[in-house]
Amino acid sequence: MTDLCNPKSKIENSAMASPVAHSLIGLALGLIRFLSGYRSWDGLAGQFRALWRPLLFCVLLANAPDLDYFFGIFRGNANYYHQTVTHTLVWIYVLALAIWTYGWLRERRASWLSLGLLLALLGSHLLVDWLTVDRSPPIGLTLAWPFADHIYHAAFAFIPPPAKQNWAAVWSLQNLRLALVEMVITLPLVIIVLWFKRRRDAG
Ligand SMILES: [Zn+2]
Repeated sequence: MTDLCNPKSKIENSAMASPVAHSLIGLALGLIRFLSGYRSWDGLAGQFRALWRPLLFCVLLANAPDLDYFFGIFRGNANYYHQTVTHTLVWIYVLALAIWTYGWLRERRASWLSLGLLLALLGSHLLVDWLTVDRSPPIGLTLAWPFADHIYHAAFAFIPPPAKQNWAAVWSLQNLRLALVEMVITLPLVIIVLWFKRRRDAG
């Protein structure tokens, strides 16, 4: 079995998109769920003001699996636990179910659609990381852990990985360029959702 706590597993550069791709996909999913039809830019801006909390929640949740960096900091290496437990299908299912149950207990109403959105937000993160170029063995994600050790990675991974060996690399010009590439890939998703909401629901 893969030793998920092995510091050699992902000590250098692991596959991950920057928060830009995850956030824009989370925003697109949130807009699909929460945005109503709108007639004008003013109407759209008004909805953004009213919906900023749920939309921010969607953006944060789409980034949530990368919280594993935080735990690694206590080991002196942010990559120590990266792309291990929190990048598995079991973990995102458990987390989605926990949030959904919390919502149900609090408000006594939680639809299956809400559970679907939670799973889609967290699942989008794994999908993007699966599609991100990985240069540090083991290549890919242990998606089926703890039931199987197979490491999954798209043969056609095309999203470039940012440099993050140290803080200087994280804030480099190269990463700014990569963030722009991610924006070019994922911003159209947000624009498509906005376009559909205006055409279909306005009335
Ligand atoms: Zn990730």
